[in-house]
Amino acid sequence: MRTQWLMVCLLASLLSGGLVANVAHAAPAATFDALLEQADTLRSANPARFRELLAGLNANTPDDLTVGQGERLDYLNAYALALGGRYEESIAAATALFERAQGANMKVRAGALVVNTRAITRDFAGGLRMLGKVLPFTRDDIDEANREHVFGVAAVIHNQAGQYRIGREYAERVLAITEAPRARCFAGQTRLQAMQELKQVPSEDREFNLLIDGCDAEREPVVANLVRAMLARKWAGEGSRSRAVALLERHLPEVERTGYPPLLGEFHSLLAEYKLAAGDPAGADAHALATIDRGGGDFTKPLVAAYRIRYLVAEARNDPVQALAHHRLYAEADKAQLDEVKARELAYQIVSHETLQQTQQIELLNRQNEVLQLQQRVQEQSAQNSRLLVLMLLLLLASIAFWAYKTKRVQVSLRRLAETDALTGISNRHHFNERAAATLARSARMGEDVALVMFDLDRFKSINDHYGHGVGDWVLQRVVEACATSRRDVDWFGRLGGEEFALLVAGADGAEAVRVADECRRCIAAIDSRESGHAFTITASFGISTTALSGYDLTRLLTHADRMLYRAKRGGRNRVCLYEIPVPAALQVADAHLAPAHLDAPVSMRAGERRRVTAF
Ligand code: GH3
Ligand code: MG
Ligand code: MG
Repeated sequence: MRTQWLMVCLLASLLSGGLVANVAHAAPAATFDALLEQADTLRSANPARFRELLAGLNANTPDDLTVGQGERLDYLNAYALALGGRYEESIAAATALFERAQGANMKVRAGALVVNTRAITRDFAGGLRMLGKVLPFTRDDIDEANREHVFGVAAVIHNQAGQYRIGREYAERVLAITEAPRARCFAGQTRLQAMQELKQVPSEDREFNLLIDGCDAEREPVVANLVRAMLARKWAGEGSRSRAVALLERHLPEVERTGYPPLLGEFHSLLAEYKLAAGDPAGADAHALATIDRGGGDFTKPLVAAYRIRYLVAEARNDPVQALAHHRLYAEADKAQLDEVKARELAYQIVSHETLQQTQQIELLNRQNEVLQLQQRVQEQSAQNSRLLVLMLLLLLASIAFWAYKTKRVQVSLRRLAETDALTGISNRHHFNERAAATLARSARMGEDVALVMFDLDRFKSINDHYGHGVGDWVLQRVVEACATSRRDVDWFGRLGGEEFALLVAGADGAEAVRVADECRRCIAAIDSRESGHAFTITASFGISTTALSGYDLTRLLTHADRMLYRAKRGGRNRVCLYEIPVPAALQVADAHLAPAHLDAPVSMRAGERRRVTAF
């Protein structure tokens, strides 16, 4: 009986909205959704109609039931089970729904139903455990009514578990978020109950009266009178016991009409206590008896108070037998009540401890997770550092390579500048000598013939004199070009100075050298000077020496070739003279003043004598 009442009170107070009264007679809704809505709205205000509607919904479930509709129907069925006193089945169904519900709103509703039903079955630990699971969802974007509902449930179950400070906090959270008068009535009463237990009741009566008025306006006599009982306690505590008795007696008929055992127990036990104190043991005993008969429950404070009063009254009557009997009952009830209080507090402590452990485990996991994340970041960082290092090394290598390449290019161009004649682009004298000496040394080792061809432009001074130095330069460049085209077999081509050049032809004997020189000569003679803006003849005279006759010493080869060059000049220019032996005696005399004493005498060459003397 008592639990049934508690159930009705809790569910009516915490699960219903404010629109119940009128909807009870609303026309049957056309759609499944509308019927669901109607059943949901009516569930606490009109349980009979709710059951009817629910039976209809269960019988006519559409084939294409949506997830949302299915969840709502399951919720209403779980609610109906609780309403019918099938608490364990209700808890199982609501717990399953809580686990699988997709949205936070349904999770909160199903979870709150479990908490409520567990409170009814006095499984406070189970209720608090579920509350711990539900509360996090109140941080989600859920309906305000659902949030207020969960906080209301939390306030009630904490008060029941003796955790009045937390109960008060939750009740105040409900009051902070809702303007709905009915919800404020219930939350206000829960708050005052917690404050009374904490000995923090408001000093002003106004707060009690406002709450009583609000609950009366909402037609909630149970709650209004629970608050009146608290006001009566306050007055009695302040010394106004008769005023308290008057208030309780004035509203006793209304309280009797509610038939709600906890409220009846509260009123009668208070009246019994105050009447005894006022010297009315008969009245006190009558109220104590009423408390025992209709106050309900084995563990309540009013019951303990009632047995105590009966014992005191019997004692005052000098009835030791009765006094002893009542005292025994009083002691048992007192112990049972204390056990109940302890059990509730223990339940709270167990759940708090579990929650703390879970929190610590979660903390630990979070820490481990953080460590893993940090490790990962370190790895990423070091990978990035390695990449950066590789990149830097590559950059360094690239810049070293680039620097080396640039240096090399500078070196090459410097060397080329040092080795090259600026005007004609061929080797200068120094470089020519160097390369020619190297080639000669190599050829000497291999026993290979090498020929040295020297030539000098004819009457070049007069070109300069007549047409200017610029034209002279132009001639020098054309001459080099002309010979370059014919020097396929030539190893080295150099400008020895002024208008004097030399060709080193490896692997060539005298005849081959003559061929090369003559080709060069003809190419020079074929230069068309008109490109310079002037018409004049360009020729050159050639002297050749060979290793076969002069050996591999460059100086010697140069001297012999130079001598032949001079001979070509003297022979009329524009011709080739090859150094040959033996030298005819007649010519030796003619050229004696030209030849150094230590050298072999040059050979005189007559034009047309190709084998010995080549002249063109
Ligand atoms: P020969 O037929 O006897 O060789 O007569 P030549 O006039 O060619 O000989 P000479 O030695 O009298 O004159 C050489 C001239 O070459 C003198 C000099 O001004 C000129 N010369 C030397 N180097 C250069 C140069 O780089 N550019 C120009 N334009 N002239 C130069
Ligand atoms: Mg000359
Ligand atoms: Mg000269």
